[in-house]
Amino acid sequence: MTLQTDFPLTTLNTLQLPALAAHYLYVDDCALLPKLPPHQRRFILGGGSNLVLLGDFDGLVLHVGFKGKRLAFEDADAWYVEAAGGENWHDFVLWALAQGWPGLENLVLIPGTVGAAPVQNIGAYGLEAGERIHQVRAIDLETGSEKIFSPTDCRFGYRQSLWKQEGWHLSGRSLITAVTFRLPKQWQANCRYADLAAELEKRGISQPTPQQIADAIITLRQRKLPDPAILPNAGSFFENPIVDALTAEKLAAAHPGLPCYRQADGKVKLAAGWLIEQVGWKGRQLGKMGIYEKQALILVNYGNGKSQDICALVTAVQSDVRRQFGVDLRPEPVFIGSVTN
Ligand SMILES: Cc1cc2nc3c(=O)[nH]c(=O)nc-3n(C[C@H](O)[C@H](O)[C@H](O)COP(=O)(O)OP(=O)(O)OC[C@H]3O[C@@H](n4cnc5c(N)ncnc54)[C@H](O)[C@@H]3O)c2cc1C
Repeated sequence: MTLQTDFPLTTLNTLQLPALAAHYLYVDDCALLPKLPPHQRRFILGGGSNLVLLGDFDGLVLHVGFKGKRLAFEDADAWYVEAAGGENWHDFVLWALAQGWPGLENLVLIPGTVGAAPVQNIGAYGLEAGERIHQVRAIDLETGSEKIFSPTDCRFGYRQSLWKQEGWHLSGRSLITAVTFRLPKQWQANCRYADLAAELEKRGISQPTPQQIADAIITLRQRKLPDPAILPNAGSFFENPIVDALTAEKLAAAHPGLPCYRQADGKVKLAAGWLIEQVGWKGRQLGKMGIYEKQALILVNYGNGKSQDICALVTAVQSDVRRQFGVDLRPEPVFIGSVTN
């Protein structure tokens, strides 16, 4: 591990926003973490696929690189599979499938690392990582002590966790070194998501295997989402807003066709992409940033876009949606630093 200064982060975030880290350390051995000197400002970096870098970062960026995955143990009901924080998420899902340990296939092809998965409780195609997490192992970088978190401790919710609620996703206080997943031996296909069911039907598959589900989702994701290596982006840029039932009812009456998804607690989730499309932003550009033509939830960098370009676009989309629907859109990625010119 070598401490570097004024380190460029442009290729380490999938939006390819330019920024320098005053100090940067690639950490490939988690045993060294408790010995790190205290630092005033710290940020933990995984694959950089859920980040908006607003400018240079004047603290220490810890880039998580430690690897390793194994079957920790098994019982009559489940396999308990552990992966290190720096493992690539998609590779880990494919590896677990190849070992005959299914259960994560709905989350295939999500960019980023295993260590970041609990931070926003990644979710796709009717599954959230928190539903499969058995425990999270993390180091408190202020005390150097290790802590093990149960799923209850993690306080998972929609794109939510303890790490976000405590502000550790910004302060870099708690670094996730490993995650253990509980993968039930009684596997059941999860094909509730309409697009997935339709894709399987198109392939003539009525009783899919875990690998067939993964293959179908890979096709769907490649069809809908731009590859960040070709068109820089950070995936879904806005969370789906959740409103109370009465608000949803009024909105649905005023806007026929509004997609509404009732939640277990009675609240209603709206589709942010639909709202953005209705206000005319799908496929539109503002400066060097724009909203992807095939998916209104994705904000893309068309080349050399900077933090001020992204802020202008986000503000414009948010205010148009607020004006037409009275709904606030909240960005999903983590914003770091402050805007520089
Ligand atoms: C094309 C595309 C598609 C996407 N699709 C989805 C999707 O379907 N569902 C979904 O939920 N997300 C999706 N995302 C968002 C993103 O992939 C996830 O949020 C992912 O978990 C981020 O991982 P990362 O390693 O890149 O994290 P980073 O972007 O590097 O960091 C994100 C946050 O996690 C923290 N963090 C990272 N590693 C650690 C660690 N080891 N310990 C503690 N904190 C850490 C960071 O400090 C930061 O706050 C998509 C992104 C892209 C670009």
